[in-house]
Amino acid sequence: MEKRYIVLMGAPGAGKGTQAKRLQDALGLPQVATGDLFRYNLKQKTELGILANKYMDAGELVPDSVTIAMVQERLAQTDCANGAILDGFPRNPLQAEALDDLLEELGGRVVVVPYIHVNQEELVRRLIKRAELEGRADDNEETVRTRMRVYQEQTEPLLTYYRDKGLLVEINGQQAIDDVYADLHQVIQRAA
Ligand code: ADP
Repeated sequence: MEKRYIVLMGAPGAGKGTQAKRLQDALGLPQVATGDLFRYNLKQKTELGILANKYMDAGELVPDSVTIAMVQERLAQTDCANGAILDGFPRNPLQAEALDDLLEELGGRVVVVPYIHVNQEELVRRLIKRAELEGRADDNEETVRTRMRVYQEQTEPLLTYYRDKGLLVEINGQQAIDDVYADLHQVIQRAA
């Protein structure tokens, strides 16, 4: 069976993580979230985690070589035998091309790229609220601003990359969580 990969796109605060967690069970595919992998590594105090943390705290991207190697290793694990839901990767054009190469090696492809769209004002409101609730170190005001800028400069070009491949489908992220989920699920089921 061909492996199926779903790339979830959306700005910080768009709700990718929330939705990816719910989609895992329904699709039988694991969520592979680079941010979570970095945070896990930091908790375990691995060399990778300590290196990544410097960039995360600043709101910048962790260097591509490190990120791509980590994803490559994760996608080779047995729970990813049928594919995965990618959350937070790729985040720039170089990562997107690396992913294409990697998936070719693994015998799979990106089947659909749902783009969860939320307007800027609402994103900022959500991230501030998340900072209060979860206390994530990179949810302070200055880092949030940097992450937004990094998203606009480096990640947004990927929308064009995937739109040109006919894979991008926009989802309205400003609905109730259940409604966003219903739209996502439908879009993914329809994809080949
Ligand atoms: P959010 O989507 O809310 O910004 P994440 O948990 O996905 O949060 O990412 C947090 C941080 O982890 C990013 O600001 C960045 O430093 C790092 N990171 C996550 N994914 C990548 C990636 N694909 N490439 C480089 N850095 C990444």
